[in-house]
Amino acid sequence: VTLALYDLPTRLPDIRFRRREEFAGRHPGFHPENLAAGLMALPGSTEEVSRLLALCNDNRIPVVTQGGRTGLSGATATGPEELILDTSGLNRVVSIDPTGATAIVESGVRLATLESTANDHGLSSGIDLAARDSATIGGMTATNAGGISAFRHGVMANRVLGIEAVLADGGIIDGLKRVTKANEGLDITRLLAGSEGILGVITKVSLALVPVDPPAATALCLFPDTARAVEGVAALRNSREVELLAAEAMWPDYFHSVSEALAIPRPVPVEPDATTLPVLIEAAAESAERRERFEQAMMTLLEQDLLTDVVIARNERERAGFWRIREDSFTVDDQFPHGLWYDVSVPLDTLPGYIEGLHQAIDEISADLRVFLIAHLGDGNIHATITTGEPLTQWKNRIDQAVYQGLTAAGGSFSAEHGIGIDKRAILADELSAAHRDLMQRVKTAFDPNGILNPGKVL
Ligand SMILES: Cc1cc2nc3c(=O)[nH]c(=O)nc-3n(C[C@H](O)[C@H](O)[C@H](O)COP(=O)(O)OP(=O)(O)OC[C@H]3O[C@@H](n4cnc5c(N)ncnc54)[C@H](O)[C@@H]3O)c2cc1C
Repeated sequence: VTLALYDLPTRLPDIRFRRREEFAGRHPGFHPENLAAGLMALPGSTEEVSRLLALCNDNRIPVVTQGGRTGLSGATATGPEELILDTSGLNRVVSIDPTGATAIVESGVRLATLESTANDHGLSSGIDLAARDSATIGGMTATNAGGISAFRHGVMANRVLGIEAVLADGGIIDGLKRVTKANEGLDITRLLAGSEGILGVITKVSLALVPVDPPAATALCLFPDTARAVEGVAALRNSREVELLAAEAMWPDYFHSVSEALAIPRPVPVEPDATTLPVLIEAAAESAERRERFEQAMMTLLEQDLLTDVVIARNERERAGFWRIREDSFTVDDQFPHGLWYDVSVPLDTLPGYIEGLHQAIDEISADLRVFLIAHLGDGNIHATITTGEPLTQWKNRIDQAVYQGLTAAGGSFSAEHGIGIDKRAILADELSAAHRDLMQRVKTAFDPNGILNPGKVL
């Protein structure tokens, strides 16, 4: 007899389940269909995940794994016949090893929780993003998240030493290495990082940690244009005198609108149509000498005409204000709904040309379109919101073309850090060769022959 979704709680009485009416009131996260599933399971151990998946696999019940539901590409969207596997019950920090600077955590542990536990040992995950209070280590691994510090410590796949995961049939992959070097055949860890829940359910992650960041000086720098911002930030990043911790660019339209909406006084003068580029720059300043060296580096950039203006935050309140303008990016969507979101990356030497070309191409489509841009300037990752405040269906294809044109050829990426989910399946199909897509499909089938894991996502 084939089981239906709603038979699962009876067959697995020791596993926690919630019916739709019990979880419908929760915050759905960043896709309206995230909580459209009929049932939610909240397993508390790897063994429970294994039994749950084996039963779902035998009965072809689709399973969508969800962590913090902060993903931005629709990868956790569900339908009424699907089961949500919520990882909030897998919430233990298993161990921190200060000697080897490693941590093992269950996949539902939130980034902020890992961070504060590691900080107690003078260590940090080396990865940071604005969704830190909700995003889970499992979700961040499954999306191969990047964020603010990626230019220093790499993306999630670079932080992960090993993974424990459950396959669709309930089989357990025990790959929890705590060493950097482990060449033991095909690298399943690296394959699971970024797999968006379509290959297996990550239950534990082993991570390499880094020393916690020193106290920082935070500056809002106004560069004359994008090219000089790229050059100035590169000079700071490549300097032995300065330890650059963050370089977050906010193009004038974004900077003006968000600071206005949040009623945060603009530390540097910027009009929406200016050609200047405000960049939030943070550098190590744990001693008076270090701070002086940072200030000296800023002076040098000013003397070289690479920099127009700079304001260094005088206290925590000012620092928090600078960061809010950068991190409350959803303020743009509140002001201008129905926008199209893009997350691309371009090699730094091509970034100024890319931005100029994008503005031109969008202007040609319609003068009514607004382009709100921010970027992790250390690694060339650009987030764009293109909007008129009204639904954009008639222009979507042309806007897609304007954003994606030439990216792959230049060595960039049409999907930098948010993954494919459902939103970018079409562009993935366009950009990858048939052989490449076919290989991905065969890998998916090898891991999940019945296609029960996050069906319809990525491929
Ligand atoms: C304000 C904000 C800022 C952000 N900033 C950044 C940023 O700077 N850099 C960046 O890279 N991203 C950023 N993101 C998006 C980012 O993808 C997510 O924050 C994070 O990586 C997802 O974690 P999550 O726990 O919320 O995963 P979810 O959204 O719950 O899931 C995301 C994907 O991972 C899968 N998944 C989740 N848990 C598991 C698991 N245990 N095993 C297998 N698959 C799993 C899901 O099925 C889905 O495919 C931001 C999001 C927000 C809302």
